[in-house]
Amino acid sequence: MKQSDGQYPMPPAWAATNIEEDDMSDKGPYKAYSGCALCYHSCGVEVTIEDGKAIKVEGQKGHPLNDGKLCPKGQAMIEHLYHPDRLKYPLKKVNGEFVRVSWDQALSEIAEKLDKLRNEYGPAALAFFCGSIGVENLEMISLTHRFKAAFGSPNFFSVESICYRMRIRARQITFGKYPVEEMDSKLYLLWGHNPAASDFPLSLAIEENLKKGSKVIVIDPRRIPIADRAEIYTPIRPGTDGALALAMINVIINEDLYDKKFVEEWTYGFDKLVPHVQKYTPEWAEKITGVKADVTRKIARMFATTRGASIFHGTCTQDQCANGSQNDRALAILQVLTGNINVPGGWVISPRLRLNDVSLPFPGKPLGAEEYPLFYELWGRTSPYAVMNMVPESVPSKIRAFMVAGGNPLVTMPDSNALREAFEKLDLVVVYEQFLTETAQYAHYVLPALNQLEFWGLAYNYNVCHCLPYLMLRPALLPPYYECRSIRDYYTDLANRLGFGDKFAWEKDEDVVRYELEPCALNFDALMARPEGAIYQEKDYTLRQGSFATPTGKIEIYSQAFADAGHDPLPTYLEPSKSPQGRRWAELGEKYPLVLATGVRDFYFNGAMLHNIKSLQTWSPYPKAELGPETAKKYNVANGDDVIVETDRGFVKMKASVDERVMEGVVLVPHGWPEEGNCNRLTDCNAREPIMGYPEWKGLLCSIRKA
Ligand code: SF4
Repeated sequence: MKQSDGQYPMPPAWAATNIEEDDMSDKGPYKAYSGCALCYHSCGVEVTIEDGKAIKVEGQKGHPLNDGKLCPKGQAMIEHLYHPDRLKYPLKKVNGEFVRVSWDQALSEIAEKLDKLRNEYGPAALAFFCGSIGVENLEMISLTHRFKAAFGSPNFFSVESICYRMRIRARQITFGKYPVEEMDSKLYLLWGHNPAASDFPLSLAIEENLKKGSKVIVIDPRRIPIADRAEIYTPIRPGTDGALALAMINVIINEDLYDKKFVEEWTYGFDKLVPHVQKYTPEWAEKITGVKADVTRKIARMFATTRGASIFHGTCTQDQCANGSQNDRALAILQVLTGNINVPGGWVISPRLRLNDVSLPFPGKPLGAEEYPLFYELWGRTSPYAVMNMVPESVPSKIRAFMVAGGNPLVTMPDSNALREAFEKLDLVVVYEQFLTETAQYAHYVLPALNQLEFWGLAYNYNVCHCLPYLMLRPALLPPYYECRSIRDYYTDLANRLGFGDKFAWEKDEDVVRYELEPCALNFDALMARPEGAIYQEKDYTLRQGSFATPTGKIEIYSQAFADAGHDPLPTYLEPSKSPQGRRWAELGEKYPLVLATGVRDFYFNGAMLHNIKSLQTWSPYPKAELGPETAKKYNVANGDDVIVETDRGFVKMKASVDERVMEGVVLVPHGWPEEGNCNRLTDCNAREPIMGYPEWKGLLCSIRKA
């Protein structure tokens, strides 16, 4: 917007550093850097701003993740930002309809209800939820943790309660650290992972490295496009990956393919693993997985004999099934046996970013800490996440209110029907969001959220996601949209009304980021001078005493932590409860004879986000149930038919996509679609992985028929 003197404001001092002079003007338009927050990768973006509005978004040239490129979601950033349905004002539900209210009215009424709840039921009755974007926005999640602790509740649920955290936990238990796959690998073992749909930066890296001679192996119930260029491709029955992993360990040990020097020097428990895996032969696994025994041997040999090879497992494909924690441990052990730890192209322990913690210590244990202790505590270190599957059974006896920020749990969390019924029983639901999501529609109050281009944040997750010790600012490039407020501003105002405003003493959003960065050499001022971002510490591949912070100081193939919690200390296999070989087949198999896997990724959306963006809808207009031609024929379904996919928990309506690339006997459905396309109407909060309480999403039983 023009100033009173008729001039455009000067671009902020940090805005256009290192972007060509031609792009700059003190009267606008000007360019500024940010990290895209439309999914967890945080690709670098260059935003062109004119007259107080974003007018163009491009990939940031030279960014180590995306070097000038953007996926279609990132390209739609401005459409998302100025979408006509974006919330502008606080809303309150009155007689079933939302009416506009002031922030003052909304927050004073919410504070009054929270105060009453705290007095009547105790603070733990208030639960918090952040979705993926809530988690990827460091300030959103950490300020939510802070508010939760200041209020006095331990109950924080998030996408971490169902996704990725199990893998982090399993690697921490094995390595005492969290080693991460490097993007530049000699051999990509894509195990239930389709980067072309879910990991844009990784797919860019694979394309580049294939030209330089890298190889790919694909294990997936669907022959994903890159499988056509793979050295080996095998389909696998969803939910059975752990059996294949154990058989590969068997081959690598019995064919003497393991890295003896590495195993001897850096691991604990190999001697116990050798007899343990003898029964897990490739022939044993073939009966479970459908993977031919000779193919298992080929994969194991190629993987074990490549220096710089990495297993890339799908975000959740190995975790969200009955054998999840043991799968993660088995895959970690496979990586270890080949010596591909801290070698370029393998799994690497990259230097951790030491930030000031915005959250506060919380009182009590979160829901599920007793039932799933390894999810909560490891070697005295506790984690703040509660077990999402336990929400429906805990309302209203333990939980009576939810505050949701940056998430849509009624679509993205397990068993939507049960969760919706639970939400209907809550005394108070407050949702802080940019759009009136399905969860927001169940709220008593909806508070309009700022977009990532409107508040200060830190793009920090390059290391945990891609082994890149890189950091950049996400500055507030734009003024707030209508009455939208930052999460800091919202929590501060509410905290003041609840009597703990002293815990929210920051005056501005950027003060939070400044505080986070205080311990770092690359602190706030240093990053202001490097708005394009920078490496905060070089990687060091050398292993030394202390590299593995486990009780034995070694990589724990044998896990005493598992044994102490009552679980098998060496990886084992557990069949999904609802599967053709599972314990509930006799009860369910006749009515639901097909294997269902939910969560297929769609390149054009991120979970439940972005389904309202028209340009993306044209690419992906409806949810598809994918199945093979023989299965389709057997159930009288043709390509393009409207179909009902049903489980013992509910049904969805989708379009059939009949494709010979899909394993027969299997139905694959995407997640994140609204209403009748929501795959979590099919899932079951009681079908749980036994160690960490995760949902079994990759091996269920279903039927399919024409709608
Ligand atoms: S992959 Fe796409 S949506 Fe995700 S951060 Fe990159 S550009 Fe944004």
